[in-house]
Amino acid sequence: MTIADLEHFRNLLLERQNNVVQWLASPENAGQEEIDKVQNLLTEIKDALERVEHKEYGVCAVCEGEIEHHRLEIQPTAQICLECISQQERNQLEEELFLASKIHRALLPQTVVHIDGFDLAVKSLAARIVGGDYYDFFTGGRSARIVIADAMGKGLPAGLLMSNIQGALKILADEIESPSQLVTRINRWLCRNVPVTKFVSFVCIALDSGANQTSRLLMANAGHCPPIIVRKGGAIELLEPTGGVLGVHEQFVFSECAHQLQSGDLLVLYTDGVTDAENGKGEMFGDNRLLQFLSSHPATEPNQLVSLLMTEIDSFAGRKELSDDLTIIALRRQ
Ligand SMILES: [Zn+2]
Repeated sequence: MTIADLEHFRNLLLERQNNVVQWLASPENAGQEEIDKVQNLLTEIKDALERVEHKEYGVCAVCEGEIEHHRLEIQPTAQICLECISQQERNQLEEELFLASKIHRALLPQTVVHIDGFDLAVKSLAARIVGGDYYDFFTGGRSARIVIADAMGKGLPAGLLMSNIQGALKILADEIESPSQLVTRINRWLCRNVPVTKFVSFVCIALDSGANQTSRLLMANAGHCPPIIVRKGGAIELLEPTGGVLGVHEQFVFSECAHQLQSGDLLVLYTDGVTDAENGKGEMFGDNRLLQFLSSHPATEPNQLVSLLMTEIDSFAGRKELSDDLTIIALRRQ
């Protein structure tokens, strides 16, 4: 491991430490067991920082080989390489990843992102087993970009994959404004740099604040559930994929489509945790229920709309535990 690598992982560990300390200061709705686990996590982070100081960081305790960097990216406290971990440790790792993603989500500003000209609401829930939902907002450029993605499958591989994509996007989104170019680049990056056996569905939408209460929407959709526009009058439009899922072929080129959003129009992005939510009889919530719900709430303000939709999904699924991550983003043009 180079000095630069050590510096990188030290920063990552310090950031985690900071998040964990912050979470422990006000562990809302957390039981003692969970607090204890997070306390242990803090101890592990401190131990890992010690190993960085002594330049012993990143060495597998079993085979003494180097621990995979993509593993350390997601679990910087790891002391054993992926080759060497047992099934029991694998389960433990999933548990830790779940905790980490829960802390990450708890600290994520779920609604405070501001997009000019829009009211915005977000709800994202992690399933018990680590899933692969990811969303982000990039509001620095000429237009605001919204990204939503879902890694197929769950567990460790999906979690690792999403964490890698998140890192790459933070860099690429600064350089690339166009949704189709961003999706094309992230696909190429993914195919070249990550040994992908799972695929990722991905949407990038760019929104202009526009004039006269009209915004231009540009979208590239790599095999993701179609975002939905509900017009002020109740008409529904589905923004179908403009290309296949990410991670299949690095030469894929993604196109984009353009739409106009007028005052009162609603835009909804979601992951398949919404439509795949199952009830006790094994029935899925499905596209039709979602569309029916949206068209029967044409003027509801986004925050309320999202919480009503969550209630609808919960009551449909009964008391069954969430089996997949679930993310909903709703925006209404002011
Ligand atoms: Zn090893």
